[in-house]
Amino acid sequence: MAGLINEEDLATVRERSRIDEVVGSYVTLRRAGGGSLSGLCPFHDEKTPSFNVNPARGFYHCFGCGEGGDVIAFVQKINNVSFSEAVEFLADRVGVQLRYSDGGGQRMEPGLRLRVLEANQQAAEYFAGQLTGSGALPGRQFLDSRGFDKTAAEQFGIGFAPTGGRDLGQHLKARGFTDAELVKAGLVRENGWDFFQGRVLWPIRDAGRSVLGFGARKIFDDDRMPAKYLNTPETIVYKKSHVLYGLDLARQNIAKKSQAVIVEGYTDVMACHLSGVDTAVASCGTAFGDEHARLLQRMLGTGDVAGGEVIFTFDGDAAGQAAALKVFKSDTSFGSQTYVAVEPTGLDPCDLRIQQGEAALRELVGRRVPLYQFVMRNVLTGYDLDRVDGRLAALRAAAPLVSSIRDESLVLGYIRELSKWLGMDPDEVRREVKVTVQRHGRQAERKLERRHDSDEALPGMPEPRESLPVPDPRDRRLEAERGTLRLIVRAPETFSEGWNGLTTDDFVHPTYRALFESVLAADEGPGNWTQRILHANPDPVLEQLLVSLAVEPGMRDATEGYSREYSSQLRVLTVSRQIAELKSKLQRTNPLDDRPAYDRMFARLVNLETRRKELLTLATGPAI
Ligand SMILES: [Zn+2]
Repeated sequence: MAGLINEEDLATVRERSRIDEVVGSYVTLRRAGGGSLSGLCPFHDEKTPSFNVNPARGFYHCFGCGEGGDVIAFVQKINNVSFSEAVEFLADRVGVQLRYSDGGGQRMEPGLRLRVLEANQQAAEYFAGQLTGSGALPGRQFLDSRGFDKTAAEQFGIGFAPTGGRDLGQHLKARGFTDAELVKAGLVRENGWDFFQGRVLWPIRDAGRSVLGFGARKIFDDDRMPAKYLNTPETIVYKKSHVLYGLDLARQNIAKKSQAVIVEGYTDVMACHLSGVDTAVASCGTAFGDEHARLLQRMLGTGDVAGGEVIFTFDGDAAGQAAALKVFKSDTSFGSQTYVAVEPTGLDPCDLRIQQGEAALRELVGRRVPLYQFVMRNVLTGYDLDRVDGRLAALRAAAPLVSSIRDESLVLGYIRELSKWLGMDPDEVRREVKVTVQRHGRQAERKLERRHDSDEALPGMPEPRESLPVPDPRDRRLEAERGTLRLIVRAPETFSEGWNGLTTDDFVHPTYRALFESVLAADEGPGNWTQRILHANPDPVLEQLLVSLAVEPGMRDATEGYSREYSSQLRVLTVSRQIAELKSKLQRTNPLDDRPAYDRMFARLVNLETRRKELLTLATGPAI
């Protein structure tokens, strides 16, 4: 039953809750004179601090967006909870037992958000307790193999989810949580089974140390969930694009050192912290995105260029270079303060600590280079900079990168650097960048808009699909593909049901293949046949191809026999390709290693040869 919070208790909560401490666990505050503190506003996106806290008077105010109020208002706003929920949150924090005026001392039913946080907290304690039990031996062995002892496990609150399937649910229900609450917390599934079973768990906390969810690693081979890592599903408190593992441990160091290190996994965060790189965080089950960037920015407490460093750790291999490039292209929040620490041997921080020790990890971070330098050098290494034409080609390759940076002040700096590396006149470099901007301006803008719409378009995410290549109509190797499509577009009635047995595999060129997919997807809608094909995939390149196929010369009158010949030719080519592949595979396979597999391949080869002969008898007709 709801009740009014006792006035006296309310006053005590207000009195004991220091606004600078409460706000300070979400936002890094710095002294701003006049006894007030300032930081980056958590309620609007900004790069220079306009968010002020006055501890003496107990209120906060943002000159940027106008938000303001006392400590309770802050908790309400940042946690998106009601007044009484905010009071309860603070009461828990400062250890006040609240009384309610008409509830006979009964505790009011707190809102779902707080119940979920409470359930998570108790789950974390339960899981941590389970890690020492006999059933958790494989979990402890895993941690040991990653170089983490009991003390480390305790420091990071690592837990173990029992294999029983309902242990956590029963434990929490005995403590007064309802099924609905546990499902909403993502701890129990709709069908009553524990969400995490037989896994090692890391509690994921916010900067204020509330447990938001868990990351869990597979330990047993017979785990029913295929993924090696499993995270709490999206809940009222756990939003994967907004959480960073390790933030609770790193936040003070991030503020103090004006540095944040971004690594990939839970064990990497642990390895870093244990090695003295105590500013490490990782995104959980998703790529590092814009929201993560904003979160870190608030912790760094400054958006100005001379301020904090954000250091990404990447492998030195091609994948690492690609990941760096993606961060670079999307680098709008950190400006020139983004660095990369590249481990040339490709070891992740956890393995690096195991194999080379903790000092190696600190050195890795110490060896950081500015991200733009890393990316530009990767681009330039492909060119011979001793030659004039090589330098020009390198400039053309690097210019789009520079022009993709939105921050004008950074672009000028990059142009200067680039001209130094290339040994060219800065004006020449600037001209090329300007030309690139004009050439790609509209296209780049559209890309940026698309990226802005999705909340996670950083490393690991596929780029928006590139446009289809326009096939050369005179390419002899593709004549069977084009000819068949020409017939399909102009004379679909000459084909049997199922397009004479053709499949998408018969089309090698991506655009021809895409067109055939559209043909398969075209339905009995309004419009003529070509309109319906286009309707299945309204792509400008496909449209152009359709028009060409409809009008280009070089065809006999379409008949069923003619279409059959063309499709058979195409299928002969496909079978020939498969035969060649299989033959080369047979060459590489030692029959003594796996006799049955070898025999299966051989039988398949014989089958394909037979099929090819059959198709050849159908395909006599137009020469390819
Ligand atoms: Zn604001």
